[in-house]
Amino acid sequence: MQDCIFCKIISGEIPSSKVYEDEYVYAFNDINPMAPVHILVIPKTHISNVMDVNSENSDIIAHIFEAIAVIAKQQKLEKGFRVVSNCNEYAGQTVFHLHFHILGGRRLSMEMA
Ligand code: AMP
Ligand code: ZN
Repeated sequence: MQDCIFCKIISGEIPSSKVYEDEYVYAFNDINPMAPVHILVIPKTHISNVMDVNSENSDIIAHIFEAIAVIAKQQKLEKGFRVVSNCNEYAGQTVFHLHFHILGGRRLSMEMA
């Protein structure tokens, strides 16, 4: 999708620090980390956010979570981590290409919202 920074990261037009890639999924370090490990996991196809997931494209969500399990092991996050996807204004979504934050590397705040 034109003008989507995460599509540009997937195409290589914008540089990123890659941590994982397969046919369907790309993962890279967040530019503004909120925890010692802060990785974004995104589908290679453009989906705006969780509200645009449907029966046509939900296979990719299962695949993303398989990738998250692989990444969590690679990053040695066995003690625990959090997966977050912000959707729309009230959740503070700033990039409208579906992404899952992996946050870990220390004990996380118990505050969820
Ligand atoms: P959200 O607020 O959930 O939409 O998250 C967007 C995330 O993308 C933020 O944590 C940003 O720090 C991150 N981000 C924005 N631009 C880049 C970039 N070029 N490379 C890596 N992370 C980015
Ligand atoms: Zn996109």
